[in-house]
Amino acid sequence: MEHHDTIVIGAGPIGLETAAGLLAHEHSTLVLDSGPIGSTIATLFPPATRFFSSPDRLEIAGIRCPTFAEEKANREEYLAYLRGVVDTLSIPVRTFHTVRDARATPSGFELEVAERSGRGRRFSARTLVLATGGMGRTRALGIEGETLPHVRHDLGDPHQYHGRRVLIVGGRNSACEAAIRCWRAGADVHLSHRGPEVNERVKYWIRPELLALIEEGRITAYPESVPARIDREQVTLHSLSGEAPIPLEVDDILLMIGYEHDPQLMRQLDLPLDPVTLAPTFDERTMETSVPGLYVAGTATAGTQDRFRVYIENCHVHAQRIASAITGIDGTTISEHRRLEES
Ligand SMILES: Cc1cc2nc3c(=O)[nH]c(=O)nc-3n(C[C@H](O)[C@H](O)[C@H](O)COP(=O)(O)OP(=O)(O)OC[C@H]3O[C@@H](n4cnc5c(N)ncnc54)[C@H](O)[C@@H]3O)c2cc1C
Repeated sequence: MEHHDTIVIGAGPIGLETAAGLLAHEHSTLVLDSGPIGSTIATLFPPATRFFSSPDRLEIAGIRCPTFAEEKANREEYLAYLRGVVDTLSIPVRTFHTVRDARATPSGFELEVAERSGRGRRFSARTLVLATGGMGRTRALGIEGETLPHVRHDLGDPHQYHGRRVLIVGGRNSACEAAIRCWRAGADVHLSHRGPEVNERVKYWIRPELLALIEEGRITAYPESVPARIDREQVTLHSLSGEAPIPLEVDDILLMIGYEHDPQLMRQLDLPLDPVTLAPTFDERTMETSVPGLYVAGTATAGTQDRFRVYIENCHVHAQRIASAITGIDGTTISEHRRLEES
């Protein structure tokens, strides 16, 4: 069994920032992640996707995030940035280490971990931080045919859709951006969404272009519709406005209807969760939960979010609160300590 003072589960931006805060105070810390560094961004962002947030708001541990042409960072730039932060601050991270089981013990926590190869490992820690994010599971429609091989929940590389008939389901940013990118990649794009029109909250640099493409007949939209059944040959859209069902012959179906929080580890650790969002309860000042020594950080604090209210830019403070609570040194002193070391 390998022991560390603190283990952070999750090498996303906020897990890394929390580890950085603890390491700044020479507190023995290890980060475990089931995927690569920044796994949510690496796996859920299609290639070259740009963040909505400006780079200064995505910066962690006070390290600048320069971008090509001073634009908003894209997926590749930010992943390179995260790797740079890990190397610069020597944050110990074990990637492709999935925490399968976690339990509290009288002296802290014990974790059962599976490596990518399937090899099992055991870790123990005095304190544990769950920075496991809020997008661990894809949302399901619960309809027949949803698991067929031509149906997926993300976009992937738009290049693959050239010359194909693609149905995109969803009315939020990801679905709307996917529709535009697939069209640009040479796909015949169909977009099914529940609302009577493209959602007004879709980002201002996506919505006008999508509306223009729909108006020009380059993308076909099916407002007030939801898929009712998927076959290998066709998908049937059910009309929410009482029209006749719409049969569509398509090659690929992208169900871009969002993600859910995976509460498995929190349940294993007996954390009380909100019945609807599955968000854990915790002390806002310290980020400690009702289980002594167990902290939560980042988007994991919000459970499943219908509209993003908790994201990278308003989670930086979690890292500082946790470092202060665990080391007993207040946040200002930690920042001061870092500044003095740098000068
Ligand atoms: C297309 C898209 C665009 C977005 N744009 C923005 C934006 O502009 N600004 C913004 O702030 N946010 C944006 N987001 C959301 C952003 O991805 C999250 O806010 C951010 O990743 C949250 O960081 P985090 O550290 O809290 O969690 P995450 O980055 O989700 O990290 C959680 C980590 O925990 C790991 N993990 C989970 N369970 C286990 C386990 N059992 N064992 C080991 N590891 C585990 C995961 O692999 C993951 O790496 C966007 C999301 C998408 C999909």
